[in-house]
Amino acid sequence: MTSTTVIGLGPMGQAMTRTLLAAGHSVTVWNRTPSRADDVVAAGAVLAATPTDALEASELILLSLTDYQAMWDILGASTGSLAGRTVVNLSSDTPDQTTKAADWAASYGARFLTGGLMVPAVMIGTDHAYAYYSGDPEAFETYRTTLAQLGDPRFLGADPQRAQLMYQANLDVFLATMTGLAHATALVGAAGIPAQDFLAEVTQLLTGFPAMIAADGVGARIDAGDHRDDGANILMLKATADHIRGASEALGVDAALPQVVQSYFRQAIDAGHGADSWTRIVELFRRP
Ligand code: NDP
Repeated sequence: MTSTTVIGLGPMGQAMTRTLLAAGHSVTVWNRTPSRADDVVAAGAVLAATPTDALEASELILLSLTDYQAMWDILGASTGSLAGRTVVNLSSDTPDQTTKAADWAASYGARFLTGGLMVPAVMIGTDHAYAYYSGDPEAFETYRTTLAQLGDPRFLGADPQRAQLMYQANLDVFLATMTGLAHATALVGAAGIPAQDFLAEVTQLLTGFPAMIAADGVGARIDAGDHRDDGANILMLKATADHIRGASEALGVDAALPQVVQSYFRQAIDAGHGADSWTRIVELFRRP
């Protein structure tokens, strides 16, 4: 079994460590706040005294930190121990930081992979877990089996930015959806409908999304620049957006979110695209 080092023991790093230990790997850990290692040490991990010791314990180094700056803060004084190792940074950040990190690691003789785990800590290692990786292809192949313990590993190519961007794009949908759910819950709540009743109802709409996206080949049409009306045109949706904003204002609920949504449909109509599919909105984002 591969020996692995995990640096960063927030909920994600701890769950990764526990999962690797359960799969029979030996795991060395390091965390800025040592007490956060207590549980994983009790489960069999070895706590390194310094970041240098943590690097030197394994050829595979997994980082699970708040951002990429934390990697430089931790490993900046240990660069002499990077050569020959593979650093997989599973932290969230912007794509440009990712490229900078890959160049930084390469300059010290390390192989670098960007990683983005797409599930919360409690789901790491389950059948539902998956993760995006990009960067050094040989490094990915070398450690594919180990990374697969955490979740299904999906390699997106040699560009280190790719996995970070795919992670951020998924989270873009996640955050926008959660914010929409929060707003809608407040909206019906203002009329006395309990959150649990509303959330039970809206589940049906959410589960309809995959079919809506897949059935009509929406992605292929967007790629081809084909935004012909598919039954949900901009004019109709703008009227709906107007009503959601109006309902929010009437019920005294913050209307900033529906106002922003409404503005995209209005822009599309102003540009002469009222009869197009909602997919036209993608073009508005492309050319702000
Ligand atoms: P936490 O914020 O709880 O933990 C972050 C870790 O980073 C801690 O170990 C913390 O150390 C360390 N850290 C932060 N800044 C520094 C620094 N300057 N120097 C040294 N150490 C530092 O994060 P999570 O475990 O929740 O998440 C880790 C990564 O995984 C994040 O990038 C997150 O976006 C991503 N992610 C999280 C998910 C989740 O559900 N939580 C899901 C998918 C991805 P210390 O303990 O000393 O504070």
